[in-house]
Formats: sequence, structure tokens, C-alpha cells
Amino acid sequence: MSKQQVKQIRTVKHTRDILPRDFTSDTSAQSHKFQYIESVAREAFRRYGFQEIRTPIFEYTELFARGVGEETDIVSKEMYTWRDLGANNTPGAGDSLTLRPENTAPVIRSYIQHQMWQQSDLAKLFYIGPQFRRERGQKGRFRQFYQIGVEIIGKSDNPAIEAEVIEMLDWILKELKILNTTLSINSVGCPKCRPQFNEMLKKEIEPRLVNMCGDCNHRYETNILRVLDCKRDTEIVAQLPSIQDLLCEECRAHFAEFCRHLDKRKLKYQVDPKLVRGLDYYTRTAFEVLTTSDDLGSQNALLGGGRYDGLSESLGGPPSKGFGFALGLDRFVMSLPEEVSDPSIPKVFLAHLGKEAFEFSLILAGCLRKVGVSCAMDFEMRSLKNTMKLADRSKARYTIIIGEEELTKGRFVLRDMVTREQLELTEAELLEKLKAN
Ligand SMILES: [Zn+2]
Ligand SMILES: [Zn+2]
Repeated sequence: MSKQQVKQIRTVKHTRDILPRDFTSDTSAQSHKFQYIESVAREAFRRYGFQEIRTPIFEYTELFARGVGEETDIVSKEMYTWRDLGANNTPGAGDSLTLRPENTAPVIRSYIQHQMWQQSDLAKLFYIGPQFRRERGQKGRFRQFYQIGVEIIGKSDNPAIEAEVIEMLDWILKELKILNTTLSINSVGCPKCRPQFNEMLKKEIEPRLVNMCGDCNHRYETNILRVLDCKRDTEIVAQLPSIQDLLCEECRAHFAEFCRHLDKRKLKYQVDPKLVRGLDYYTRTAFEVLTTSDDLGSQNALLGGGRYDGLSESLGGPPSKGFGFALGLDRFVMSLPEEVSDPSIPKVFLAHLGKEAFEFSLILAGCLRKVGVSCAMDFEMRSLKNTMKLADRSKARYTIIIGEEELTKGRFVLRDMVTREQLELTEAELLEKLKAN
């Protein structure tokens, strides 16, 4: 068979490789940027006392049907679901399984399964990992996408918990220099006051339905609150009643307390009565961080979250309070304003000339690495000119030049590639100097 007949295999449509900077010029697909955001988030989680949880990438389909909701777009259209193969007597053969489309339901499943409430009154958990949805490939959307999120589950629903999470997000955004953002907040009520609001909404919408889009007509039957989310019928939606006017006393007090905690922290926000989350177990506080970055078009949600006090019970767990958010890493990478330093850039490049120098460099590289200095070298014999080209391309801050003469003298040239300054140092001095800065 000739080489041309072998078909090349590529990534599945609307999935992509996240690559080292050296191998892609697409700045939204460089792995060091993902790493950078993750490291900032991890630092925030360390400061705020969150612990990492890693759940499986697939779960029983029923978890999402119940934990996200049959009527949502996610569950009805976007999940990767399959029947587990296997002979009839294989355990689990025939089970309906699903690649996780989000990670709140799996975290609550784990909270219940491991009875975390017995160990702690409040579990503060974070996760970082891929999620899967059958996206049709709009800009910035991928079938495998990456999320960072937190869930706080337990006995307390103090609004200070919510404000603290917002404060942490504010720190993350500032640290990443994503500055053109606004915080929208709302309350979606509770099982006591929301049914009345839904009734009222139904009455107001019914006579207007003929003029509304197909999605709204569907939501009218299945999930009335989501009509407020419609991006097409904005004129009609603007005339509908506001949930803020119908909150019960407890919900009103909770929301006021949340706002007070935000004010105390000098965190700016706007109240958006149209900001809703459609499912019954979502209660009270909902929020979104919007960005006006040009890369993403007009106002776009960068992240969102809220309170879900009924979720644990709907998954068979004990009554628990819950609050969390999820942010899309792919979108965050696109929103990063400037070049991010790449930790994979070596500190030193060893430029060797000749066989003996090569042998010496191999050992020197090992010594440098043992004291924590990252270094790169080449495995071919090249001219000084070509070796220095490689040193440049590596972007290393320093180059050590090792030739026959240097070997005999026992002194080596250390060149600072930025300032062009050169020093002649012994091996011991080299290690000392590079270790120190
Ligand atoms: Zn209420
Ligand atoms: Zn509509």
C-alpha cells in the first residue's frame, strides 16, 4: 500500500487540541494559558479554603435527568448518552450512561454518596475539568469544553457565603486582568413564593403567546420562568411582572442581606430581575458575570451561578443548602487581555560545540535541573551560529556557551539574552548564580 492511501485521522468536529505555544499560533488554544488560569484559580481556592473533588467523566444518565432537568436544552438535546455494551452477565451491561455535561449534579451525587454532612457542616469543594455537550460549533463553543467551578454544600445558607464567593471571583478576574466585566444579581424566590409568581406570569403571558417565539411557547408549558430569558421577545418580556416585587419576606430579607455583604466589600453589581434559572431546586440568589469584550461579541455571560437548596433532596440526599458557580475556561482564555508568561520556557539554553562539550553539557544540564533550574539543549552537533539560533528560538533568558577552550579553562560564558551582558564563570559559580535568580 502506498503512503497516499493511508487516511489521516483528525479531531472530531467541534473538538480541538489545546497545544503548547510552540505548535500553534491560535492564541485561544495554547495550553500555557489554560494552565495560567487554573493556577490563579487554585491559588484563590487555597486562600478561601476550598478543597478539590474529582468525579468520573461519565455517570448514570438518570443523574442528569434528575439533577439538571429533563426539560432543559442540556438534557433534551445536548448530552452524549449511550448504552453500556457487554455480554448479558457483565455487571452494568445495558446501563444508560452519559458524559457529564456539567458538574454540579455529580458533585452533589458524591456529597450524598460519601455522607459528607457527617464530617463537616459545610463542604467547600472545587473542580477543574472537561465537560461534554453536543454543541453545534458556534464561536467559542466546543463539544469538549473546560470548566472550573465550586460548590458549597451543607447546613448554612448565610448570604455572607455568597458574597465571599463573589469576592473570590472578583480577585480571580482582577488577577487575570479581565477588567471589563459587570456583575448581575437577582433572587428567583423559593418554593413558597415562586409558584405565585409563576401563576401571575402565566396569566400575563397567555394572551401574548401568539406573538412570541416557538421556544417561549414551549417554555410556557414546561418551564415558564425561562420565558424571561428569551433574547428574541425582549419587548414583551420587558412588560412582564418582576419577581423582585413578589418575593416572600424571607427571600426579600435574604437578598437584602446578600446586597449588604456585597456593599460592605465594595463589590459593584446591578440587580437584573430578568436573570433567572429555570429549575425548581434553584432558590433565591442567582448571579452572572458579563463581559463586553469585543472578541466575544456583545454582552456575554462569562460565568454564572446561584443557590440550589433543593438539589440534594431531589437526588435522594438529606435537606442541604447549596451554592456554587461554574466558569468556562475556553471563554476565559479568549478574554485574557495580554501575553501570559509561559512556564515551559527554559531558563537556560546550553550551547555546546564539539563532542567533548556535548558530553560535558549533558552532565551540567543534570546538575542544573537538580538544583531547580529548567534548561534545554540540543542533541545534534551544529555550528556556533546555528546553535545560537536554537538558543534564540527557545526564548531562554540565559545561554551558556561551552566550547573546547571553555572546557580547558574550566570557565564558561553565561550570556543574558535580554541585556546581552556576558560573564565568565566556573561551573560552581554558574550553579550558584542560576539557582539564585
Ligand atoms: Zn420566598
Ligand atoms: Zn421567545
